[in-house]
Amino acid sequence: MTTTELVAYDDAVARYDPVMGLEVHVELSTVSKMFCGCATVFGAEPNTQTCPVCLGLPGALPVTNKKAVESAIRIGLALNCEIAEWSRFARKNYFYPDMPKNFQTSQYDEPIAFGGHTDVVVDGSTVRVEIERAHMEEDTGKSLHVGGTTGRIHGASHSLVDYNRAGIPLVEIVTRPIEGAGANAPAVARAYVAHLRELLRGLSVSDVRMDQGSLRCDVNLSLRSSPQAPLGTRSETKNVNSLRSVERAVRHEISRQAALLDAGQRVVQETRHWHEDTGMTTSGRSKEQAEDYRYFPEPDLLPIAPERDWVDELRATLPELAAVRRARVQIELGFTDLEMRDVLGAGALPLIEATVAAGASPASARKWWLSELARRANDAGMTLEDLPITPAQVAGVQALVDAGHVNDKLARQVLDGVLAGEGEPEEVVAARGLGVVSDDTALSAAVDRAIEANPDVAAKIRAGKAAAAGALIGAVMKEMRGQADAGRVRELVIEKLT
Ligand SMILES: [Zn+2]
Repeated sequence: MTTTELVAYDDAVARYDPVMGLEVHVELSTVSKMFCGCATVFGAEPNTQTCPVCLGLPGALPVTNKKAVESAIRIGLALNCEIAEWSRFARKNYFYPDMPKNFQTSQYDEPIAFGGHTDVVVDGSTVRVEIERAHMEEDTGKSLHVGGTTGRIHGASHSLVDYNRAGIPLVEIVTRPIEGAGANAPAVARAYVAHLRELLRGLSVSDVRMDQGSLRCDVNLSLRSSPQAPLGTRSETKNVNSLRSVERAVRHEISRQAALLDAGQRVVQETRHWHEDTGMTTSGRSKEQAEDYRYFPEPDLLPIAPERDWVDELRATLPELAAVRRARVQIELGFTDLEMRDVLGAGALPLIEATVAAGASPASARKWWLSELARRANDAGMTLEDLPITPAQVAGVQALVDAGHVNDKLARQVLDGVLAGEGEPEEVVAARGLGVVSDDTALSAAVDRAIEANPDVAAKIRAGKAAAAGALIGAVMKEMRGQADAGRVRELVIEKLT
């Protein structure tokens, strides 16, 4: 059947119960590789960060990177896993051109961490995701297929291989089957990966850049006729590399598999490729069973037997976990759930926290980052973090508003000046002449001119109609291009005419 025959999503989840399994590969941000001293800098010239070990040359012997083991243990602890007292590396044997050793050093039945869980907030309710295991392994090199239109091997004239990535330490985090999500499965998958990204960022073990492949997600999905039925055959969609794609890939697989099952066909156990452009998956290779890899314990590496004291020490020094921290920060800032979701969605929480730390109120910090600055970032095609303005400067703009030196309208021009590199907020105010005029001599003269130009209005105020003062205040503001202190102008008008 072709991929265009899909069942509408709502119909699919009405008839079938989806079960997911998510495998997330995290590239650790260690300075050197997993089993050798090669550098791990992203984007370096191809094949400049290699050595006999990571190229798999005969006789080269690997040595385990202690920092990588430490990171793996910390990840396991943060996911409430047990840390193995004794764990081994294993050889996963298969041929692939970007894997020079013809086996990947990984872990099989003796992972470093296992049996954990983590709680994910999805639309205000908590979903517990059980963690099967978190194991260590090394990354492969990277193939570049040249000459085709899709960048895939099909249609390419030749391929190039870059081994800089070969041997970079990875931790693979595998969930147990996630059941019971129903129609919410795509949202749960997305929320889990987002949650994991935040948790890993908090641990400082990876830069978790999905766009650079340092966080990669494989989506396993199967359907069954009801929650009581046995698990169906699953597909594994590889390398889904953005949060939005995770959500879309789950959705697509549900619709695709429902169409197969409706037609009385069977779902093939296979790996599938995700296509960002069409939002669809296509068939990859039929999935090997574990026995196909002929796993066996790695003879060149010592087992990992982390001392309990070390594990306890790592446990004691874990940073506050993301979800806990987020709940605490939300209470401190006094944001509603909806406000918090907007803030997190815009990636603005650290910026808002820093702005508040620099003296602004939470409400004003949120207002500037989510309205004015979000709009400017969007117009410039940048992230909020990349805008050339610091939280301290945003707090500075708000301080000028609070002190009555500028009003909201002028404050926006101050932001423009700071973003244009004209200096600190006060410097922009001075250079652009944006300050609100509250100097009585200047204001008094302007009020006198307004009274003279509007004798009818002045007469009404003299007769006791204070509400008419608005017209005179408006005239003064107009003359002073919006830079008059409106409160002081009102006082002067009343003083002069009553
Ligand atoms: Zn190396």
